[in-house]
Amino acid sequence: MSTRGAPYVSGKRVAVLGAARSGRAVASLLKRHGADVFVSDAGSIAESAQDSFNTQGIAYEASGHTELAWQADIVVASPGVPDEAEPMQEALSRGTPLYSEIEVASWFCAARIIAITGSNGKTTTTQLLGHLFRSAGRNTFVCGNVGRPFSDDTDRTGPDDLVVLEVSSFQLDHIDSFRPDVSILLNITPDHLDRYNEDIDRYAASKLRICENQTGVDTFIFNQDDERIARFIRKKVRGPIALGISITDEIRAAGFLRNSNLMLRINDQEENLMPTEKLALRGRHNVYNSLAAAVAARVVEVRSDVVRESLRSFEGVPHRLEIVRDIDGVRYVNDSKATNVNALWYALESFTEPIVLIAGGRDKGNDYSGLKSLVQTRVRALITIGEAAEAIQAELGEFTADGVTTESLEEAVKLAHLLARPGDVVLLSPACASFDMFDSYEHRGDQFKQIVSNL
Ligand code: ADP
Repeated sequence: MSTRGAPYVSGKRVAVLGAARSGRAVASLLKRHGADVFVSDAGSIAESAQDSFNTQGIAYEASGHTELAWQADIVVASPGVPDEAEPMQEALSRGTPLYSEIEVASWFCAARIIAITGSNGKTTTTQLLGHLFRSAGRNTFVCGNVGRPFSDDTDRTGPDDLVVLEVSSFQLDHIDSFRPDVSILLNITPDHLDRYNEDIDRYAASKLRICENQTGVDTFIFNQDDERIARFIRKKVRGPIALGISITDEIRAAGFLRNSNLMLRINDQEENLMPTEKLALRGRHNVYNSLAAAVAARVVEVRSDVVRESLRSFEGVPHRLEIVRDIDGVRYVNDSKATNVNALWYALESFTEPIVLIAGGRDKGNDYSGLKSLVQTRVRALITIGEAAEAIQAELGEFTADGVTTESLEEAVKLAHLLARPGDVVLLSPACASFDMFDSYEHRGDQFKQIVSNL
């Protein structure tokens, strides 16, 4: 799949913006391929990273960018660096080629790439596909946004291998020739709009770039039930084979539901894969994730029995509707990764049991109004935390019997324990970022699990 690779970067001066994980990985990759690499970070650079740059002979600067950050033949931007940053603006105004890390890593990739994007469900679907391909005995690299940079793996890929790549919209903003063999677009709902001038169409446009370089031998798997995606498909997709997934439309989709069975129709061959009740992951959103993974697996010719068994046995990903523990008939569920309203919506929708919901955190300009009817029908008590606690109560508190604002996660869990009745679910699904009270959503979820295990 290498389009340019080593000859293109050898001897070139490359400035890498950002010295976090993916910046460090791409700097090393480029250095290994003969580039003259310079790393620039607006903040501090970890000592371990400095040591590693020194050993590799990679020059760097920290605590601010100088013109060395844009005096380059190529600039590579980490996903955390916004377009407004000075070196980005300089590169853009000088016409210096500006790429994201996955673009560069893809130049050196010999394996088939299955790339996954969307507002929600990326990590779940990525890990699910990794599990599935490994169960099928395929040599598989799971990387990208999941936590392991593509640049760390790309040099080790061979033609029979598979790369399952989780891709964020920031990574797609600066692709050029990036061309996955199979791309998956799960959904487009408001998130990260602060990076797109609060313009959902700009955000959608960057997600849709996942298939822009694909040709007739490639496949684009998309959620047909998502209005924004469907609108785009009608207008634009010409290159790849486009396969839809849907839970409402069995006429046009390649992966769909019939009488609660997961069905596939690829190359006009219809097959009944399995009943949804056999899926390891619960909830309607996970039916979409499972359908997308199943279609992708069949496209790269994984046998149906392996697909079926993998969808049944997948253990799930921590912090995504993760079952923590049952106490006195009450199930405690950690969905700390629900950092936006849409993820909370799907979490509420996943349970038939009454829910004691713990939500709140740092608000990203959320609109909670779409949750009203689900809160009314499913939520027994709403306990809120963090900066958004009052705003959520103001919007949703009247739709539930008990609405209480608390000062800490511990207080919230203890109150939930008191209010829950046997048969209920206590659900942490914040709909907000964690940074007002925690280092990360993982930190928040781990604390929740700790508090629950001490009950
Ligand atoms: P991402 O990597 O895109 O952030 P995750 O798989 O980590 O997605 O899931 C993030 C949150 O979204 C979790 O709360 C999860 O339960 C929920 N979620 C997972 N898949 C979907 C989907 N297809 N649609 C909506 N929400 C989803």
